[in-house]
Amino acid sequence: MRVIITGASGRMGRMLVRAVTEADGVQLVGATERAGSEWMGRDAGELAGMDALGVVLSDDLSALPAADVLIDFTAPEACLAHARYVVQNGLGMIVGTTGHTPEQLQELRDILSASPVVMAANFSVGVNLALQLIEQAAGVLGDDYDAEIFEAHHKHKVDAPSGTALAMGRSLAAGRDVDLDDVAVYAREGITGARKAGDIGFSVMRAGAIVGEHKAMFVADEERIEINHVATDRSVFARGAVRAARWLQGQSAGWYGMREVLGLD
Ligand code: NAD
Repeated sequence: MRVIITGASGRMGRMLVRAVTEADGVQLVGATERAGSEWMGRDAGELAGMDALGVVLSDDLSALPAADVLIDFTAPEACLAHARYVVQNGLGMIVGTTGHTPEQLQELRDILSASPVVMAANFSVGVNLALQLIEQAAGVLGDDYDAEIFEAHHKHKVDAPSGTALAMGRSLAAGRDVDLDDVAVYAREGITGARKAGDIGFSVMRAGAIVGEHKAMFVADEERIEINHVATDRSVFARGAVRAARWLQGQSAGWYGMREVLGLD
C-alpha cells in the first residue's frame, strides 16, 4: 500500500512517517508541508528521527507519485484542499485533523462523498473502546446521573473542546437518545443557575506537554462512575491511523470510523 502523509513535519506528521515506515506492506511515497515551511526539501525519515527514506517534503501534491491512501493530520482548510486531491486522484483518505467548523465538516463530506474515508477524532484503540463503553453506560444510567466530560491537552492545541471530548459527548448523547446540540454546556462562568437535568457539561484544561486525557463522569448523589483514558505517547494515534489505512484498502466508498475499523459494533 502506497501512502502520502500531509503535514509530515508536524508533531503527528513525524509520528506517522515512523509508523508507516515500521508497518509491513506499507510504503511512504510522498510527504508534504505547507508552502514556505522551513522543512521544505528535507527528508521525511530524517525529520522523524530515522535514516533517510528518499522521500523529501514537497508543497506540491500533484508532483508526487501515485498512491493508494493519503493520511492527513494538518489543519481544517488544508484538509479540505487535500480531500480535493484525494477525489481527483482516486485515493482513500484517513482524516485525523480536528477543529472543523460544522460548515467545513459538511464541505469535507460533500467533497469525499464517493471516496473511502476513515475519519476519527482520536485514532487510539483505547479511546474508541471508551467511546463505546460511554454509550453503553449512558443508556443504562440515564439522566439520573449527571454527565460531565473533562479533557486536558498540551499548551499548543488551538481548538477546544477536543474532537475526542466532542466524540465522547456524542456517544453519551447517543446512549441517552438525545441530540448533543440540545444538551451540551460548553462554558460556565458567573451566575450560571443550577445545573439542568440532562445537561452534558464540558470542561477543558490546557497546560504543558499533556498528550491527551479524557474522562466521562456519571455522577449520582451516592456514587460516581468514571471512564478515563490517558494517552502517554502520540505514537498511539499514528499507529491507529496506519491500522485504519490498511483496513481501508479494499473497502468501497463510504464514511467510516474507528468503530468499523476495530469491528466494535
Ligand atoms: P502540528 O501543527 O504540529 O502539525 C500540523 C502540520 O500541518 C504542520 O507542520 C503544518 O505546517 C502542516 N500544514 C498546515 N497546512 C498544510 C498544508 N496546506 N499542506 C501541508 N501541510 C500543512 O499539529 P499536530 O499536533 O500534529 O496536529 C495536527 C492535527 O491533527 C490537529 O488538528 C490535531 O487536533 C489533530 N490530531 C488528531 C489526532 C487524532 O487521533 N485524530 C491526534 C492528534 C492530533
